Amino acid sequence: MKQIDKSKPILVTGANGFVASWLVKKLLEEGLTVHAAVRNPSQKEKVQHLLDTAEKSRGTLKLFSGDLLKEGSYQEAMEGCELVYHTASPFSLNVKDAKKDLLEPAEKGTANVLLTANKVESVKRVVVTSSCAAIYSDASDCAKAPNGTLNESIWNTTASEHYQPYSYSKTIAEKKAWEIAQAQSRWDLVTINPSFVMGPSLNTQSNTSESFKVLKQIGDGIFKGGAPRLGIGVVDVRDVAEAHFQAGFNPEAKGRYITSAHNTDLFEMTQQLRPKYEPSFALPKSSLPKWLIVLLGPLMDKSMNRKMLRNNVGHPFKADHSKIKKELGIQFRPLQTTMEDAFQNLIDQKVIQPKK
Ligand code: NDP
Repeated sequence: MKQIDKSKPILVTGANGFVASWLVKKLLEEGLTVHAAVRNPSQKEKVQHLLDTAEKSRGTLKLFSGDLLKEGSYQEAMEGCELVYHTASPFSLNVKDAKKDLLEPAEKGTANVLLTANKVESVKRVVVTSSCAAIYSDASDCAKAPNGTLNESIWNTTASEHYQPYSYSKTIAEKKAWEIAQAQSRWDLVTINPSFVMGPSLNTQSNTSESFKVLKQIGDGIFKGGAPRLGIGVVDVRDVAEAHFQAGFNPEAKGRYITSAHNTDLFEMTQQLRPKYEPSFALPKSSLPKWLIVLLGPLMDKSMNRKMLRNNVGHPFKADHSKIKKELGIQFRPLQTTMEDAFQNLIDQKVIQPKK
């Protein structure tokens, strides 16, 4: 049982990211001191939103630099912290060199942060942002799970460097985290495993997360002729932040936590937007047949190869979120709220425009 002293600073790696920014906000609003580690603290467009959030809250923000591939680069930011959140990891589905762009930063970066925790005596708990991608690659994997439903005991066995490399990066990174955690006893490890995270972004200057690409495609009318029933789990970014908070401070938090609110699919996600945004946006009214999307998908988006589409379109995604609800008391926002708030955020940022 680990009780975290709230007067001590808390490290967040990749603090400027889509998910981490909401966590930093929550911590600052609770009046805590956050050591925010980012690749380049002097890059204003990457950190200004964190400084603005700090200004409006009771807590204190201190920026540090940290690079996943530079050994020991998080040590200074970690000194004095009892709680470490490791969220930094590249999230991209379209990379040139999977090893260099995804696998190395994910796995070596996790080792770098956790081995630093071994050296910094104050650390009591590390919360790693893993993913449902460390549990499955494709919606078709769900049918092979007990009762057709993913749970925390399952590991992704189908991703590789060449197939679904992002999922592979999250799998090897989380495995590395458990290996390092189990080799010592001073700090304990908790992982948050979100499904696809949606919702508004706090950083209106630079959104790199893959989460925005899908939403932008919807807003740009890519799916106006129909959207695929591509099975996926969705969770609100604000609920993911709360999950991290509870995973850090609830002394009973233990093991992996599937953090997925809705078992849904891409077509159903787009339908949440129709009541509010039609006819200003060209939203799909029907789903596309599987054969058509398998044929055309790779031409529309390079990250969609035919094997991936065959394994996901028409396969329901099903994950069991009962552990996080029961043990950490997490409540999830409705899908419509998440989709509308995310879409509105992109409209406000002028990333997507209504029809003239
Ligand atoms: P973002 O791209 O917004 O955030 C990724 C963060 O990782 C950024 O702060 C980025 O820094 C940092 N990062 C990447 N490479 C390096 C590096 N070499 N050294 C230091 N920092 C680095 O994505 P998300 O917020 O969506 O993702 C955050 C975490 O959540 C990731 O671990 C991701 O795998 C996980 N996740 C995300 C889901 C989603 O749907 N969004 C679903 C499940 C898990 P910089 O800004 O400098 O590039």
